[in-house]
Amino acid sequence: MPFIATKPPRQRNRRFLRPIQLRPAQVDASAAPQEQSTDDEQQGLLCSTCRSLITREDQAISINGRHQHAFFNPAGIAFEIRCFQSAPGVRPQGATSIEFSWFAGHAWQIALCATCRTHLGWRFAGLAGSSAFYGLIASRLRSS
Ligand SMILES: [Zn+2]
Repeated sequence: MPFIATKPPRQRNRRFLRPIQLRPAQVDASAAPQEQSTDDEQQGLLCSTCRSLITREDQAISINGRHQHAFFNPAGIAFEIRCFQSAPGVRPQGATSIEFSWFAGHAWQIALCATCRTHLGWRFAGLAGSSAFYGLIASRLRSS
């Protein structure tokens, strides 16, 4: 076999030069954090019964355009609730339900204070895979 000189390397495959396709981030605009940048953001919110840390002001979010909502439950009791992205101080409890959900497309579950088990609100989980949030009863929270 005749010796065949190795060809000079070809130019690198241009595919490496193609721009990376960036997917648009999946953002639920209705759950966008409120644009606030005050020193209050780190303010802790405590259980009004036992004063355990429940969440912080910087976890406050807007759902359907508002942070705070007023609702009646099926028994006619009014609740003022505030929406939070997370609430490490509560524990969801019991069954998840979609009946009488205050937020369309979300199933709710009762959320109790993890320390004293006072009913502080509800966890709302998106049925379409959107992230969950917490609706906490305003009068059952106090600032630290
Ligand atoms: Zn408590």
